Amino acid sequence: MRADRLELVRQVPGFMPAEEGLALHEAGLEAAALGPLLEIGSWCGTSAVYLGDAAEQVGSVLFCVDHHRGSEENQAGWEHHDPSLVDSRTGRIDTLPRFRHTIEDAGLEATVVAVVGESTVVAGHWQTRLGMVFIDGGHGRHPAHADYEAWAPLVVAGGLLAIHDVFEDPSEGGRPPYEIWCRAVASESFEPLDEAGCGSLRLLRRAGTGC
Ligand code: MG
Repeated sequence: MRADRLELVRQVPGFMPAEEGLALHEAGLEAAALGPLLEIGSWCGTSAVYLGDAAEQVGSVLFCVDHHRGSEENQAGWEHHDPSLVDSRTGRIDTLPRFRHTIEDAGLEATVVAVVGESTVVAGHWQTRLGMVFIDGGHGRHPAHADYEAWAPLVVAGGLLAIHDVFEDPSEGGRPPYEIWCRAVASESFEPLDEAGCGSLRLLRRAGTGC
C-alpha cells in the first residue's frame, strides 16, 4: 500500500481502523485478480482507498456503491452523526463531495468508480460478476440482509465476500452484520477464511472453481 495513501486515510473521517483496512487491502489484492472489486457503503472513502490501491496494483477497478445520504446511525441525534457532512442547502447528509476529494487526493480516479444510489436498486440491474464484495452499508436489520441477498450471489467462484462490523458479542455492536456473517457461514456457497478475522472484519471465500 502506498505510504502517501496510508497517510491520507488517517485524515479522512471514517470507521475503519488501519489494521482492518490493511487486511482488506490484502484480500483485495488477491480477489482483484478474479474480477472487479465492489464495496457497499463508502461514506468518505477510507475503505475505498485501501481497496482502490489493491485494485490499481492488479490493473482492476473498484466500484463504490453508496447513496451518500448516510445510514440511520449517521442521522442527526444518532451516535455517528457528523454535522460537517450536512448539505446546508437541504439539511441532509451528503458525503459524496468529501468522498470525491478523498479519491482525487489519493490519485485513484482512474481506478475507483462511484456508483451513487440505493445498493439494492443498483444490484437489481447489475450483470458483472465480482472478484470481491465488501458489505459495509446500512447496519440496520433490513439494509444489511438486503445487501447480503443482493450482492453475495455476484461473487465469482474463488472470490471473496467481506463483511465489516461483525461483533459476536452483542455488547460491542449491532446484530445485523453478525447475522449476515452467520448466514454466509451456514450457506453452502461460502467458506470462512479465518474465523478470527481482523477486528470486526470477516472474510469468506465463494465455493467452487471457475465461474
Ligand atoms: Mg463499517
